[in-house]
Amino acid sequence: MASDFTGKQTYQQDFDPTDYLETYYGAGKGVFIKDGFMEFALRKLHEAFTTGGVKGDTLIDIGPGPAIYQELSACEAFKEIIAADFTDRNRQYLVKWLKNEPGMFDWTPAVKFVCELEGRSDNIVGKQEKLRKTLKRIVKCDVTKSNPLEPLLLPQVDCVTTLGCLECACKDQDTYRKVLRNLSSLLKVGGCLIVTDILGSTSFLSGTKRFSLLNLDEAFIRKAITDTGFAMVDLEVLQRDFDKEMFDVCDHTSSIFYVARKVKEVK
Ligand code: SAH
Repeated sequence: MASDFTGKQTYQQDFDPTDYLETYYGAGKGVFIKDGFMEFALRKLHEAFTTGGVKGDTLIDIGPGPAIYQELSACEAFKEIIAADFTDRNRQYLVKWLKNEPGMFDWTPAVKFVCELEGRSDNIVGKQEKLRKTLKRIVKCDVTKSNPLEPLLLPQVDCVTTLGCLECACKDQDTYRKVLRNLSSLLKVGGCLIVTDILGSTSFLSGTKRFSLLNLDEAFIRKAITDTGFAMVDLEVLQRDFDKEMFDVCDHTSSIFYVARKVKEVK
């Protein structure tokens, strides 16, 4: 299912927030619900921001699309979250979520799961209010730029997260390494980069549109991380069982979650 690279302009034109959320996170039938990715990511993020000790003032969440599940644990460990995505529609969707407008995607199952991990299953409403208070800015971002937040110039932060974005945004392995350097420029030395990517994939479907994916593997990522001035702190791979219908939507064989600490500035 190899396909030509669908770059940021394709996302700007064709990426529909609602189609994406329904396809991947829809209750009971979403691809990332059925294959266990969402619970895997939520569990690993909870670990990173509690026992893993990742905390601080500001966290930048890169390429969230229209999703907020990945910020549910982070909002307990950081004073401020900045969400940064390329497309106008994704940023508009997040602004609507912040305002609690009616008709938005229902994240209750994810919120419930995180509240249970935190031992506060009674906190479902409070948790979303907490995230709405902590998610202070929604800004434009292009990870392929040396300052991904250009024209915004921010002081370096304690943590950058990027879930399910780099395999979409990078056309080849050189770009992945370059993007790691670009993201590193946003981080203080000692700060953490937290990433999930899907592995072994070539494309995914969102609504009726197909987007290309960079085919990644664990060995490449481990080397790219050390080559770009990071030290791997935690890494876990979630295997995925073969299911034709699900693979026709998105053909990854596993997902990776990793936490890497920035050990030095790189050029
Ligand atoms: N974080 C979401 C994934 C969204 S899909 C999740 O976990 O489900 C991939 C996202 O990458 C889209 O929101 C798209 O707008 C963003 N993206 C693609 N190219 C990009 C680029 N060059 N810079 C920043 N974001 C990009």
